[in-house]
Amino acid sequence: MIMKIFVLVAILAGIYFFFKIKDKKQDEQKYADNEEVKAVEMKQDAVCGSYVEETTKYKVRLHDKIYYFCSEECKNQFIDENTNH
Ligand SMILES: [Zn+2]
Repeated sequence: MIMKIFVLVAILAGIYFFFKIKDKKQDEQKYADNEEVKAVEMKQDAVCGSYVEETTKYKVRLHDKIYYFCSEECKNQFIDENTNH
């Protein structure tokens, strides 16, 4: 009886470590994907000066130049400054 429990625990431990290793590999894959995202070109926010990814949704095209922003706030501020003058 004790032997059966021991075998059962050993099998469960085996399954546990199998999935643990699998998860770790998936995490490494995710990390590799993030590294690719970081390779996106960075553009400077014309309002606050912080750097944002080129793929940001906060961007404005003005006089054939595209301006990038970190947030809706910066984008709106830029539009205000360039349309009220
Ligand atoms: Zn900003």
